[in-house]
Amino acid sequence: MMKVTLDLSCSICGHTQFQLPTRADEGSKVCCANCTAFKCHAMDLERALMAIGQPRPSPRPAIAA
Ligand SMILES: [Zn+2]
Repeated sequence: MMKVTLDLSCSICGHTQFQLPTRADEGSKVCCANCTAFKCHAMDLERALMAIGQPRPSPRPAIAA
């Protein structure tokens, strides 16, 4: 598993760090790194994973608050 900070917040505790699976046998679940609550499937975080695996020169788009 790999801990990463995402532009997401845990629906349980509001934490923004999540444990992402790094191996196929770890499945595709993403859990909160703080309370370990099940967050969602990695499919919903595909962009985040791609950003990690394929660094680009341009910064990630900021989500307007
Ligand atoms: Zn949490």
